[in-house]
Amino acid sequence: MQPNHIGDVSFWYADIGLPQTRRPSLTENTTADVAIIGAGFTGLWAAYYLKKANPALNVLVIEKEFAGFGASGRNGGWCMGTFAWNHEAYAKATSREAVLEMVRELETTVPEIIRVCAEEGIDADIIPAEELMLATNPAQLARMHEAIAHHELWGNAHRVRELSPAEVKQRITAPNVLGAMAVSGMARIQPAKLVRGLAEACERMGVRIAEATEVLSYDQGEIITPKAVVKAPIILRCTEGFTATLPGHKREWLPLNSAQIATVPLPPEVWEKIGWHGHELIGDMNNAYCYCQRTREGRITVGARGVPYKYASQMDNNGEPDAETIRRLTEVLHTHFPEAAAYPIDHAWCGVIAVPRDWCATVGLDRKTGLGWAGGYVGTGVSTANLAGRTLADLALNRDTAIAKFPWVNRRVRQWEPEPFRWFGVHLMYKLLRIADQREARLGIPPSKFAAFGNWLTGRH
Ligand SMILES: Cc1cc2nc3c(=O)[nH]c(=O)nc-3n(C[C@H](O)[C@H](O)[C@H](O)COP(=O)(O)OP(=O)(O)OC[C@H]3O[C@@H](n4cnc5c(N)ncnc54)[C@H](O)[C@@H]3O)c2cc1C
Repeated sequence: MQPNHIGDVSFWYADIGLPQTRRPSLTENTTADVAIIGAGFTGLWAAYYLKKANPALNVLVIEKEFAGFGASGRNGGWCMGTFAWNHEAYAKATSREAVLEMVRELETTVPEIIRVCAEEGIDADIIPAEELMLATNPAQLARMHEAIAHHELWGNAHRVRELSPAEVKQRITAPNVLGAMAVSGMARIQPAKLVRGLAEACERMGVRIAEATEVLSYDQGEIITPKAVVKAPIILRCTEGFTATLPGHKREWLPLNSAQIATVPLPPEVWEKIGWHGHELIGDMNNAYCYCQRTREGRITVGARGVPYKYASQMDNNGEPDAETIRRLTEVLHTHFPEAAAYPIDHAWCGVIAVPRDWCATVGLDRKTGLGWAGGYVGTGVSTANLAGRTLADLALNRDTAIAKFPWVNRRVRQWEPEPFRWFGVHLMYKLLRIADQREARLGIPPSKFAAFGNWLTGRH
C-alpha cells in the first residue's frame, strides 16, 4: 500500500502547513555578538537562553532552508530527558559522579521544555507521558532487563520499572507482549509545532533569524554565505546531521537516516481496541528498535531505521524514504498494531541524525577561536538539545556554571573512517541487527551475538 504522501519534509508539516515564505535571507555583510549556524532545536535553544541571560546581546541565527527544516521538524516527538547508552564512555573520561550529575540535569529538560512552552504560548501538543518499551520474545525480554539495570545503575532507578503482560494490557493491546519497560518523566510532542514556536519566541526576544541562507564556510570570527559575510567573535555550529556538508567536517559525524510513517486518523472503535489512552511513547526491544506515538488527532506514527546511510555522507533533503524502508515500517506497524492494518498510510518521510565515532553527544567552545558546536545526539536530541542550548549559552557568555563542566563538554573524538569503510561498516552493522532480530524472533534464543558484533563494529557500545 503506497502512502498518500511521501517526503515534503515531514508529516508534521503536512499537519500544520509548510512555511509559505522564508524569513529574509542575508544580502549584506553584518556583525553579531554570537552567530549561530542552523535553526533547529540546538541553535534556537542556544539563541533563546543567550537572550534570556543578556537581552542586549546581538544574536543572529543563519539557516539554509527554514527554521525547523532538519531533524527538529521531522522527529518522532519523543521528548525523553535521557540520552543514548554511553554513560560508561563519559565516565571513563571523567567520573561516575559527573555523569550522574548530567543525568539529573537531563531529566529536568522535559519539565523545562513544558515550562517554556507554557510561558511562551507554544502549542506543541505536549502531553507528559511514559516511555513503554515492549518485549515480544525471550531475547527481547533479556535485553529489556539489561536496559532496566542500566537505567538503575545510571541514576534513573526512580523513573524505571518493569510491567507484566497484564499491566501492559491495561494500557495497550499489542500481540505477543511478554513484558515492558516503563520510564516516566517524558513527554509526547508535535515537533514541528515546537520548533516553529521556539523560533517565533526567539524572534520576539530580538534574535535575528536569516533563512534561505547557506553557510558555505566559517572560521574564527567569520562566516561566509553566498551574498554576505558575517563577523562574530563567537560562532556556534548547530547543524547536527548536516554537519558533514560543511567544509572540513565530512568525517566528524556520520549522517544516519531515520524514517517514519503516519497512518490516517484511526476511528474511535479502533482506539477502543488498542487502548493507549496515556499517549505513551511506545517502542520495542528489537535490536533495530522502533519508536511510535499516538498523535493529537489519533494517528499512529512509527519510526525506525530504513536504509541507514548513504555513500559518502550524502543527504536526502526533501525527506523521501525509499520503498523498502516504507515496507519495513508498515510491517512494524502491523506487527504491533494489527487493528491499524486496514487503514492507509497517510505519509512517509525521513531525516538525518548525527552519529559521532564513539556514539557520544558533545557540546563545546574553543575559547581561543570562539568556535563552538553541539550535537551528535544519536537520535535522542529533542530534549538533549535543550541542555545543549543552555550549555552553549553559558560557554558563550563565559559563565562558570555546573552544566558548563559536564562530561560531554569539549569532549573530542576521532573521525569516522574514509569511504568505502564507513559505508560498509554501517550497512553491515544494520544488516547484523536485522539478522539478530529475525533469529531471536524465530528461535527464541538469548540475545543474538550478531547484534553484539554489529554494535562493536561501529563502536556503538
Ligand atoms: C526521523 C527522525 C526521528 C527522530 N526521533 C526522535 C525522537 O523521537 N526523540 C528524540 O529525542 N530525537 C529524535 N530524533 C533526533 C532529533 O530530532 C535531533 O537530534 C534534533 O532535532 C537535532 O536538532 P538540531 O537542531 O541539532 O539539528 P537539526 O534540527 O537537524 O537542525 C540543523 C539545521 O541546520 C541547518 N543547516 C544545515 N547546514 C547548514 C548550512 N550550511 N548553513 C545554514 N544552515 C544549515 C539545517 O537546514 C537544519 O535546519 C529524530 C531524528 C529523525 C531524523
